[in-house]
Amino acid sequence: MIAVHQLTRRYGRHTAVEDVSFHCEPGTVTGFLGPNGAGKSTTMRMICGLTPPTSGTATVDGRPYRHLPNPGRIVGVLLDASAQHAGRTGREALTVAAATMGVDRRRVGEVLDRVGLGPAAARRRVRAYSLGMRQRLGLAHALLGDPRVLVLDEPANGLDPEGIFWMRGLLRDFADRGGTVLLSSHLLREVEAVADRLVVIGGGRIVAQGGKDELLAGA
Ligand code: ADP
Ligand code: ADP
Repeated sequence: MIAVHQLTRRYGRHTAVEDVSFHCEPGTVTGFLGPNGAGKSTTMRMICGLTPPTSGTATVDGRPYRHLPNPGRIVGVLLDASAQHAGRTGREALTVAAATMGVDRRRVGEVLDRVGLGPAAARRRVRAYSLGMRQRLGLAHALLGDPRVLVLDEPANGLDPEGIFWMRGLLRDFADRGGTVLLSSHLLREVEAVADRLVVIGGGRIVAQGGKDELLAGA
């Protein structure tokens, strides 16, 4: 599970994230909802060990991400898919990632299939991909190590309606098999269809959190 406890991140005098606490439990999808600039990416980067907190803690299965024995096998991460692997083909990008993680390269074909990137797409360079294809490749990368936890920042960006519907099914299935999912969006409709719990953030602070049905009943 993911446990975020009183997490704060300042940039100079600017506070990006302030005193944020929440849990994500196995078997659930947690939707992390808030407008652009609310602090979602900064929080997710702290969970994944990419941005050090100013104070507070973020752990996965009881340890900070950087202290996990083989983090890619425990947590699948998708942050800013638009920035990744531009010069490689989709298949090369995943093959390199598999080698780094110590994952059997046969798994590359499996995850490409699972995210709907066929052989022709896998042979093209990532710089020629649409944002939706990059999101699919980013999700394939996240799934490569067969993790129990997924941390996905705005995974629906750039997906067409069919792609969004497909991704919801994949995340629902992942959680129904006991996985833990944290996904962010600036759009309620993208999280409400798949999330069990909502954590709502604005201006770096938690505005509300709880079961989706109870939160939306009060909205
Ligand atoms: P306390 O009961 O003292 O609030 P917890 O460790 O239970 O301490 O909760 C810490 C934070 O995590 C709180 O903000 C709480 O709302 C939130 N939280 C507690 N349980 C869950 C859960 N199952 N899923 C998501 N968030 C949770
Ligand atoms: P979101 O993901 O919800 O759009 P972010 O976490 O990206 O929000 O940003 C939260 C706030 O922190 C914003 O005001 C943003 O400008 C600021 N911020 C994020 N990263 C940095 C950084 N590296 N340096 C300075 N300010 C930053």
